[in-house]
Amino acid sequence: MAFLAAKRIVGCRVVDMAYLQPGDCSQWQPEISSFIYSSTSNMATMKRIYMDHSATTPIAPEVLEAMLPYLGQKFGNASSLHSFGREAREGVEAAREKVASLIGAAPEEIYFTSGGTESDNTALKGIALKPGVENRHIITSSIEHPAILEVCAWLERRGCSATYLPVDSDGLVEPSKLAEEVRHDTAIISVMHANNEIGTIQPLHEIGQIARENDVYLHTDAVQTVGKIAVDVNDLGADLLSISGHKLYGPKGIGVLYVRDGVRPEGLMQGGGHERGLRSGTENVAGIVGLGRAAELASEIMVPEAKRQERLRDDLMKFVLDEIPDCWLNGHPTKRLPSNLNFGFGRVEGESLLLYLDLKGIAVSTGSACSSHKLQASHVLLAIGLPPERCHGSLRITLGRDNTQEDIDYLKAALVEAVERFRRMSAL
Ligand code: PLP
Repeated sequence: MAFLAAKRIVGCRVVDMAYLQPGDCSQWQPEISSFIYSSTSNMATMKRIYMDHSATTPIAPEVLEAMLPYLGQKFGNASSLHSFGREAREGVEAAREKVASLIGAAPEEIYFTSGGTESDNTALKGIALKPGVENRHIITSSIEHPAILEVCAWLERRGCSATYLPVDSDGLVEPSKLAEEVRHDTAIISVMHANNEIGTIQPLHEIGQIARENDVYLHTDAVQTVGKIAVDVNDLGADLLSISGHKLYGPKGIGVLYVRDGVRPEGLMQGGGHERGLRSGTENVAGIVGLGRAAELASEIMVPEAKRQERLRDDLMKFVLDEIPDCWLNGHPTKRLPSNLNFGFGRVEGESLLLYLDLKGIAVSTGSACSSHKLQASHVLLAIGLPPERCHGSLRITLGRDNTQEDIDYLKAALVEAVERFRRMSAL
């Protein structure tokens, strides 16, 4: 079946995007001023390059291999006392050790959840709403993932208060400004380790010191860093830390909340008391085993792989900034993830570029995947001070283990072609 990727534009704004079947197009025709034809029927034969690894990563073959027995003959419930249960429990506990080792934690400090969103929810709600706790003020940054920002808004509606720290034009939180916001009733500081859109890495070590000096918990959403760069909970000074399996070549629907020994958030799920009472629900054994193997693999290859991706990233960055006029880099030039590039292009819509590159078989994104259907200016780009019209020309390219120099060269050519084409069209 062929699909058409179309965007609907009112005035000069893209208001909607959809994948349509050819018959549906007539309804859209009056409003469509830009139309890009895409076909899913030739996908098997066309060159396809995935450069959206901050949205998700493929499951590594080693991870899949480790998981398969737990979807087959090792199907036991990890809580059962018989041999089937014990076999599953062994898989869970081995995975716990592997994840702990990747982040410098003790296995008892690792709690399996359904992913980054649940870990973030548990960390904030579990501390701020804990019965008997009077301190209900949260400090966070204005560029967090919705899994933090929406939770803060939810908590505010329930009587908590939240301070949203501004960031500078590179997306950095200023630790001294954060220190000024700590109050007598501050319960927790939550600042992400690296941003999912612009890749900026925060000065977590300094923030951790402020948290310790003020006897306040520090949570960090490390969904975008664990498995990509070194993460050590003691070095960061984190009391709670969120991980998502599908961002490090593990499966979707599995994650971890690291909770420092002695810290005890209230669990969100009540039931059979799994995960030492913090997270009830029969364990997703295959997912947990997969995440464990992904963590083990990351600790083996992370350092050389980060260097390799950094070289590809810097090559592409130099090319784009040198060769394409009226474009800029969003995020910090050096304190950024080795895999992340986020460019702004004047006089071009990021969505147009995305669809054009998709036609060429290249998958990238504009802003974060979760908000890409909303087509609103990204809250992260607004927070670093870009005017709304500049935000709409942004493109996020996030590299992964499979990307090669050949992919980068293919992208360079396609990008130059796309930017020229759309600028020519907008000048007409
Ligand atoms: N936090 C960050 C920084 C993310 O990038 C994401 C996903 O994109 C999440 C949290 C949510 O993680 P999950 O998809 O596992 O719920």
